[in-house]
Amino acid sequence: MKRAFVIGHPIGHSRSPLIHGHWLKTYGIDGSYTPFDVRPDELRDFLGRIRSGEFVGGNVTVPHKEDAFRLVDHRDPETSHLGAFNTLVGRTGANGITIAGSNTDLYGFLANLDQRAPGWSEGAENAIVLGAGGAARAIVAALAQRVSGNVHVLNRTVARAEALIADLGTANLAAHALEDFAALAPTARLVVNTTTIGMHGTRFEGLTLDALPKNALVTDIVYVPMQTPLLAEAATLGLRTVDGLGMLLHQAVPGFEAWFGNRPEVTPELRAVIEATL
Ligand code: NAP
Repeated sequence: MKRAFVIGHPIGHSRSPLIHGHWLKTYGIDGSYTPFDVRPDELRDFLGRIRSGEFVGGNVTVPHKEDAFRLVDHRDPETSHLGAFNTLVGRTGANGITIAGSNTDLYGFLANLDQRAPGWSEGAENAIVLGAGGAARAIVAALAQRVSGNVHVLNRTVARAEALIADLGTANLAAHALEDFAALAPTARLVVNTTTIGMHGTRFEGLTLDALPKNALVTDIVYVPMQTPLLAEAATLGLRTVDGLGMLLHQAVPGFEAWFGNRPEVTPELRAVIEATL
């Protein structure tokens, strides 16, 4: 039986076991996907369990993503500029089993928009990203690839937005304060919230969406609740919206395929399974 894991500290909140459990059942695979609470000082030893063959790999969540990036044997060239990995895969070679790491948030973010708002990036001009934390890194990198105009990164702590764009080193990025939203909104075709605002119904003070063009798309990566106050306001204004649950589902696809051999689908049935837990 192939065994995979998700590790974090804490780990009880993770919905990944439900996602992978649904796919294992759907595809009739003899495998397991188990959550483990692993403290930072236990991480290195835990990863040894991939090298010993006990696990085919697993997911890594807060607070281990940066340490996992440092500890793997092979770094995915497409996502190593993010400096944080969430997916680890055991790779068998002449010298035994080694660990390959990658970050699937970038893929998950784009795949969600492609599925829920087809054509979103056609002629997409400027984008606004709210937030400059860990998740913003993958999203800004993804948008820098797909958006033809500028990606404006707005953060409460502007220095953090400046550091993020300096790290990514792409020409079409700019750092701003959250207060600049109103001035940037009229030319934005996409707004992405990557901050923790929206969790448990919290909202941005003094930020309104009414200056956005009518064809703008608003998406939130917070998915508890699925309709955040930001998405609710966008819907009231008649703007297209995409919730954050799909990103969580799509980012799981590459790992499942690498561990268990089937490329799984993000279906309405899977969404319903996870939605029922939110
Ligand atoms: P993080 O690294 O801690 O970053 C938090 C961000 O939120 C920072 O930009 C921070 O600004 C901002 N922020 C926090 N409190 C704020 C406030 N009161 N006012 C304005 N800005 C505030 O967190 P993260 O790992 O990027 O995660 C962010 C959110 O994304 C979480 O809710 C997480 O659950 C969600 N997420 C979803 C997915 C998905 O698959 N859908 C994937 C990853 C993360 P400062 O820099 O100024 O502190």
